[in-house]
Amino acid sequence: MMLDQLKETIKTALPELDFVMGWTTGYDPLHATPLYMYEPDDVDQLIWGPLNVHNLAVHLPALRHKKVGIVVKGCDSRSVVELLQENLIDRENVVIFGAPCNGVVDMTKIRKAVPDAHFARSVETADNSLTITTDKDTHTLSLAEVMADKCTRCRFPNAVEADHFVGEKRIPAVETDPYADLESFESQGFAERRDFWMAEMDRCIRCYACRNACPLCVCRDHCVAQSREPHWVSQRDGVRDKFMFQVIHAIHMAGRCTECGECERACPMDIPVLLLKRKLGNVIHDLFDYDAGLDAEARPPLLAFKLEEDSIKEKDW
Ligand code: SF4
Ligand code: SF4
Ligand code: SF4
Repeated sequence: MMLDQLKETIKTALPELDFVMGWTTGYDPLHATPLYMYEPDDVDQLIWGPLNVHNLAVHLPALRHKKVGIVVKGCDSRSVVELLQENLIDRENVVIFGAPCNGVVDMTKIRKAVPDAHFARSVETADNSLTITTDKDTHTLSLAEVMADKCTRCRFPNAVEADHFVGEKRIPAVETDPYADLESFESQGFAERRDFWMAEMDRCIRCYACRNACPLCVCRDHCVAQSREPHWVSQRDGVRDKFMFQVIHAIHMAGRCTECGECERACPMDIPVLLLKRKLGNVIHDLFDYDAGLDAEARPPLLAFKLEEDSIKEKDW
């Protein structure tokens, strides 16, 4: 079984490492939580499957001077690659364990499908479904029904870089245009799109969970959204101020965002902030023929400067 192989691989590598990060069952059977494996016994608690939603790459920059292992899904591996590209972590200090990913759940979709999901007593996962038993009932849901949106357009279900890959590589689930949802949103008029964002930003509680969950949002204590010196952005919670923060976040991620979706997953208000990042990712793709987090040797386009960019047709407008 793939999980057993993964555990054995980690146990073999563990003596050379400070620890390995993976996932285990959290405060209830529906929520996985990060697992730090220091000893072989810790490895036995590892789980793999649709509940492993967190992107553990967010922890790597702070662990730069340790030798750590990390278990990754395909999307997580792109974040690791992007961190390597930006010299925020050192390749010799990170050991990557990859496995084929079948998709992860969106807890908001689960809560809608199973109103008493807060009282889950047990969860059984199979390749394409999960069965949730609560105090009152048993619900079997197809994975497709409750899958995170990012997984429905996943192009990289296998780790793009791994020192150890366990299991059989999966074929990407979807062949369709990964930006079809964006095109549909943009087909609306300016006023509709503005009203949409103003309404969404009205619900934002400016908690910064979207920023804190992002593996590539690394300014932390120097974030322009909170800095007092220089004081770039006000701390007011008006719609415009909150939208300004989101736009700054999106622009800082242009050409760096791997579309891991953690910003949107972490948002307690279910605000679709990934749409903004995907827009800029799409622009970068069109201008530079570049996708973030695929090649550790590549340089993100906006972290370099060339007077005459090869792929921009300067006089096209
Ligand atoms: S985006 Fe792909 S690799 Fe990431 S969780 Fe979804 S299916 Fe897995
Ligand atoms: S902006 Fe969102 S989707 Fe992009 S890398 Fe950060 S958390 Fe992932
Ligand atoms: S996580 Fe959601 S509510 Fe919090 S600041 Fe980000 S968009 Fe606003």
